[in-house]
Amino acid sequence: MSLVTTPTSQLATCAQCSGTRVTHITMTLTDGSVVDFASCHSCEHKTWTESGHGLAVTDVLRKATKTKV
Ligand SMILES: [Zn+2]
Repeated sequence: MSLVTTPTSQLATCAQCSGTRVTHITMTLTDGSVVDFASCHSCEHKTWTESGHGLAVTDVLRKATKTKV
């Protein structure tokens, strides 16, 4: 068993290219949803996550705009 202690416990890794140059932001949308946004500097891959579930960009936009139907 090899246990490597990383200095940053929440080191984000890109799902696309496994790169570590990832900007990770947690934000609250207008409908109250707390979502995580990760953007990779290596391959431009962007990921939206809410409570561990992946979100489509359209879902995020809908939550952010909160339009009444
Ligand atoms: Zn990447």
